[in-house]
Amino acid sequence: MTANERLHLSRVAALGCIVCRNLGYGMTPAEVHHIRTGQGLKRASHFETLPLCHAHHRTGGYGVAFHAGKEAFEANYGTELELLQQTREVIDEIDRYA
Ligand SMILES: [Zn+2]
Ligand SMILES: [Zn+2]
Repeated sequence: MTANERLHLSRVAALGCIVCRNLGYGMTPAEVHHIRTGQGLKRASHFETLPLCHAHHRTGGYGVAFHAGKEAFEANYGTELELLQQTREVIDEIDRYA
């Protein structure tokens, strides 16, 4: 991993869960999810990542956790690509005011 990638991942995680943010739960500690959409068998780059809390990432169960079922997750919270776009906008916003 390059220094740039490492920096980006730490910035993504530092945003807090993007779904919790949209639900108005405030800043929930997040881990990084590499998006699946459009990747085929290859892993997404470290720049195609979203911050998700444990519940929204892995442990929340069907309809809540991304890895419990992508379709149900996206029906509830928006698609991976929408959330990726939003993550980028939030980071851009921080850069603009830094
Ligand atoms: Zn969350
Ligand atoms: Zn993931």
